[in-house]
Amino acid sequence: MTAATANEPLPPLDNAVTALFGVGPERASQLARLEIRTIGDLLLHRPARHEDRRHFYPIARLQLGEPATTRGRVVAQGVKWYKHRTKSIFELVLDDGTARLHCRWWNLPFMEKHFAVGQEVIAFGKPIHLKPRTMDHPETEVLENGEEDFIHFNRLTPIYPLTEGVPQRWLRALIWRTLGQFEGRICEPWPELALAAEVPTLPSRARAIRLLHFPDTPAEPDLARRRLALDEFIALQRQIQLRRRNFTAKACGLPCRGDNRLIKPFLARLGFKLTGAQTKVLRELRRDMSGAHPMRRLLQGDVGSGKTVVAACCGLIALESGYHVALMAPTEVLAEQHFENFTRWLEPLSVAVELRTGSRKTAGKQEGRGKNDEGGNPRPPALTIGTHALLTEGFDLPDLGLVIIDEQHKFGVAQREQLVRKGSYPHLLVMTATPIPRTLGLTLYGDLDVSVIDEQPPGRGRIQTFVRAADKLPQVWSFIRGKLAAGRQAYIVYPRVEDAGPGGLKAVTREFEALQQTLAPYQVGLLHGRLPPKEKEAVMAAFRARQIHTLLATSLIEVGVDVPNATIMLIENAEHFGLAQLHQLRGRIGRGAHDSYCILVAAAKSPEARTRLRVLEETTDGFRIAEADLRLRGPGELLGLQQSGLPRFRFGDLAADFDLIQQARLLAARLPGA
Ligand code: ADP
Ligand code: MG
Repeated sequence: MTAATANEPLPPLDNAVTALFGVGPERASQLARLEIRTIGDLLLHRPARHEDRRHFYPIARLQLGEPATTRGRVVAQGVKWYKHRTKSIFELVLDDGTARLHCRWWNLPFMEKHFAVGQEVIAFGKPIHLKPRTMDHPETEVLENGEEDFIHFNRLTPIYPLTEGVPQRWLRALIWRTLGQFEGRICEPWPELALAAEVPTLPSRARAIRLLHFPDTPAEPDLARRRLALDEFIALQRQIQLRRRNFTAKACGLPCRGDNRLIKPFLARLGFKLTGAQTKVLRELRRDMSGAHPMRRLLQGDVGSGKTVVAACCGLIALESGYHVALMAPTEVLAEQHFENFTRWLEPLSVAVELRTGSRKTAGKQEGRGKNDEGGNPRPPALTIGTHALLTEGFDLPDLGLVIIDEQHKFGVAQREQLVRKGSYPHLLVMTATPIPRTLGLTLYGDLDVSVIDEQPPGRGRIQTFVRAADKLPQVWSFIRGKLAAGRQAYIVYPRVEDAGPGGLKAVTREFEALQQTLAPYQVGLLHGRLPPKEKEAVMAAFRARQIHTLLATSLIEVGVDVPNATIMLIENAEHFGLAQLHQLRGRIGRGAHDSYCILVAAAKSPEARTRLRVLEETTDGFRIAEADLRLRGPGELLGLQQSGLPRFRFGDLAADFDLIQQARLLAARLPGA
């Protein structure tokens, strides 16, 4: 912000709100509950909506069920108690000369203190009866004599989110005054960018802040929002770009050229040829790893596209070059599965594979593992696979050349950085099967290069998806028995256990017993998060060995599990899952040559839920599904944003503002220091 000139000693926008006239410590602590601490915060306090107070509805013209703003004089009010004075109704009667309106509040008897007969009151709400005209819990505002009516009336009036003790009118008047006082001091945050020329459709920042509160037309608040969102996105992109630049300047890439000594025999034994997409991505990885700076790459590929093999090749390049490799997976089940696969793949090549999870370590001596073994000979480079346990203090690898993170969306940015810091700027490959809508990708992973495997391996059976109401379950069971009889295997997923208490757990156990009877003589296994790790392993192993035919599981199996003979995925209470998550679950099947079937069962009485689920019947394109999910459920649901390291935006809307994010990215790159 510009410095204050001598004859105008106003505090800058970052001063505490207490610098404002009429805001003492008590008001300040109330405002803090609205996250308003500075004058700048106050000016950015976003109205929940605007009310058109250029026109009021005469009470006589109110329509049933139609929200409207009206005004009238208080002609009567009172509290009625009932149920031995444990319950109350407060009723306020307004009259505007055309008719009377009854406003009612349940169990808020103190409301009585706010009103007095004779006052003029504005009410906004939805009439629920017309005989007599009644609104329940309307928003109200008492008109006080001598107040600056031009702030509150004859305009599109901002209605703010409030907190206890802060009156709407007081806050509105405060924002009005503060705006008048400080409008001239709101600067363009990026003067170098000349945004007025760059985005001529958007107002200046100062104008945007005025229009946010006191617009002249109904469209202006959103225009203002977009301008303020653009500022937020530029700030974020700038941060991402600086972080990246900083890193590139500091870090030299460990030279990993590889000599094909391990990759060649690995690919020869694999039993299939890499797809064109896999080969293309592998070339990109190889180029990165032999470059001047450490690789920082995100590998996106829909479920089943074969990311693991690509990761293995990438690991082998580092191993060939004499460096250790660490692979981090989000769950123990997945780490175990990787351990099994990589052992099978790498042991014939005489590369040691070690596992390190919370419950199991195959190489106990890793603690303080040195460059040399007991005999003083250099240890050959190895691959260490693990869960979050890899992040713990005791684990330290000298010569860590490559870090691979599977299912990145389950980890936060902070965890990613923590693992990378373990070596001297190792190469980083993060993989994700959550098809991240482009908007989020640019925001979350703006500091990574992106490769995409956009092709599924050949020879896969089709996946058919059906949405069924719960009352169709008997037919579903007989269908599944038929497939089991033909030698296939099935997953059955319940959402309930996930976050439920002991009751929920009992439910799945009960379900388990019932299912054993329904499907007898086929064997059913149970897999959920609370099983001891040893049991989880045993169940998965038995399922892989086909001793168990059906796996009853929680969404624990959502990520990564790979059993090609399993071709049935039945998901009960599917309406409780997000679409992207269901798509992940569905990715567990369709991995072999046989046709696969995904059956989504939703409560019989929720037809809307079934409509939403139909998106999955229609498409298997993960990106389309993720975009639908982002629209329907918001980014928090999609990614678990608390841990993703994404800031909360006041104005930015990740689901809607792709154009702004794109623009912000280009603009930020032009800022000095870029
Ligand atoms: P995801 O990308 O979901 O992690 P995986 O790496 O688990 O997928 O691969 C899914 C399955 O496809 C595995 O069984 C894997 O061995 C197999 N697979 C991977 N690449 C190919 C290929 N090029 N041809 C045939 N099968 C492949
Ligand atoms: Mg995977």
